[in-house]
Amino acid sequence: MESAIPKTLADLRQELGLLMEYAAPAEERGALAAVVDRYAADIIALKVFQEFYSFLPEAQDDGIVELRRIANRQGVFLFSAKTLLDDYLYLADREKAEFLGPLREGIWDQEILEFFGWRDREVFLKAVADPKALNTHLAVNEAPELCPVCATANGELHTPGCPVEVCPWCGGQLVHCPCRFDKTGRKEFSQEGHVDEFLEMLDKQGRIPFDAREQRPAYKAEED
Ligand SMILES: [Zn+2]
Ligand SMILES: [Zn+2]
Repeated sequence: MESAIPKTLADLRQELGLLMEYAAPAEERGALAAVVDRYAADIIALKVFQEFYSFLPEAQDDGIVELRRIANRQGVFLFSAKTLLDDYLYLADREKAEFLGPLREGIWDQEILEFFGWRDREVFLKAVADPKALNTHLAVNEAPELCPVCATANGELHTPGCPVEVCPWCGGQLVHCPCRFDKTGRKEFSQEGHVDEFLEMLDKQGRIPFDAREQRPAYKAEED
């Protein structure tokens, strides 16, 4: 389990190197590779680069010169990828990245808009017209306000199964503590329903949100 994540990241980085040989203009390749390397330990950002270099939006040589984070909620990120040719929107989490179109056209999907708290496309376009809304994305593993594993933000719930989540009964690590057995009276979780049953008890007890002050020393240091 310990080695699974680094291997995935390294594989992804290697795949990106190959993709860039075909997709990125030769004279810019070194600088573009340096942008990717800034996110060598950020699976969510790497998924965006992978999606971009696999399916170039303009179907011609291009490269991401800056990855900017517009919004994030519960481990889901909205990025603007500024490229040599244009500026594109990507929605990404740890599983995959999705191309949403050019930044200047905004977001057409109402569900995505509302998820991040924008009433409609016009409100979104107004929000991103402010250059301050487009800050360079700080890699998830370096951002003190984010859970280093599931990337949920300070005060939000972890993605179920995140090893950083604290157990509301014993204060231990929820994925490892014995409470799931103690509370359900089960010796094993052999069916999906068993897990759901425990998750329901957990919700009733009250899950503990990610607390960056407690769990990320760098966050506390920044605040003090
Ligand atoms: Zn987490
Ligand atoms: Zn526990």
